[in-house]
Amino acid sequence: MSGGWAGSARAQQLPPDWPRRRARVLARDGYRCRAITEYDERCTEPADEVDHIRRGGDHRLSNLQSLCAWHHGKKSAREGAHAARLARPSRYRPREPHPGEITPS
Ligand SMILES: [Zn+2]
Repeated sequence: MSGGWAGSARAQQLPPDWPRRRARVLARDGYRCRAITEYDERCTEPADEVDHIRRGGDHRLSNLQSLCAWHHGKKSAREGAHAARLARPSRYRPREPHPGEITPS
């Protein structure tokens, strides 16, 4: 892989004290990735990225989480149309009721 940032996706507006916030988030999370894997386990890889849990301008620590580079890249890549895919449980469980089935309630 050749490095290199494609475009300016990283140029989201960060507060002036971002380096301090970032350091605090990493320390709070024990410098471990907080991503939940598809097996419902925490990733716990060493984290060196801080991610916004919800997109937008919320830079509070409650909206920040530590991620390893892999998960950060993965999340950035899937934000948007594919966001639901990873969040889906891996166990196969059809969620939609049968069209002809009416449950009395
Ligand atoms: Zn991770």
